[in-house]
Amino acid sequence: GAAGPRYHRVLLKLSGEVFGGGGFGVDPDVVHSIAAQIADVVRSGSQVAIVVGGGNFFRGAELQHRGMDRARSDYMGMLGTVMNCLALQDFLEKEGIDTRVQTAITMGQVAEPYIPRRAIRHLEKGRVVIFGAGAGMPYFSTDTASAQRALEIGAQVLLMAKAVDGVYDDDPRTNPDAKRYATVSYQEVLHKGLKVADATAFSLCQDNLLPIIVFNLLEHGNIARVVEGERIGTLVSN
Ligand code: UDP
Repeated sequence: GAAGPRYHRVLLKLSGEVFGGGGFGVDPDVVHSIAAQIADVVRSGSQVAIVVGGGNFFRGAELQHRGMDRARSDYMGMLGTVMNCLALQDFLEKEGIDTRVQTAITMGQVAEPYIPRRAIRHLEKGRVVIFGAGAGMPYFSTDTASAQRALEIGAQVLLMAKAVDGVYDDDPRTNPDAKRYATVSYQEVLHKGLKVADATAFSLCQDNLLPIIVFNLLEHGNIARVVEGERIGTLVSN
């Protein structure tokens, strides 16, 4: 598609589902391939911060549904995200990229605590910052954490990497005539009930005019394409 400007600083949200290759736990081959893509982006000069989900381990709402206490389940979910962070850190460092993991739940032996100004310094030095444990709060999601982190570190855009190539007017798996939006406004997303991120995450973006790009992570090189301003996926903005 048409080229927009290159993004200087981005927040990339990676769902846990992708890390598991569809199953429980981490699929090292998948993480390796994602890390290689991210390394290319960093070498090209853009600053990359990442929020990693944890759906490949535990989702609080699902454990609650099966009888567990919700807040405790959510903490299990958050701890799962940290394992994904460490896997991604490992493969990024193997690519020769400096990284720091910062967690919203303090665990000094494993990662730095979340310190926004320090995160910005890392980015300025060309390090990838990987944010773990979501927002550190039960009842929140890693989508919401990614919107909040993007705003706090001054990212220009929230990149939602998914297993589909954008936002559609209907489910493309069941409706072959479903059309992908190249661009869509926040208003339209709400009005038409389109699925971009959960409501809390979405309202943070809308209230602060943070653009979101939804794109397909499974096509190799797409992260670099998005960061370079190529118009793939769906851009959600004002
Ligand atoms: N979680 C939470 N607070 C947060 C972020 C995550 O309680 O700030 C928990 C929640 O239980 C969630 C789980 O961690 O289900 C995994 O995160 P998420 O579902 O957002 O991961 P993804 O769907 O992106 O893989």
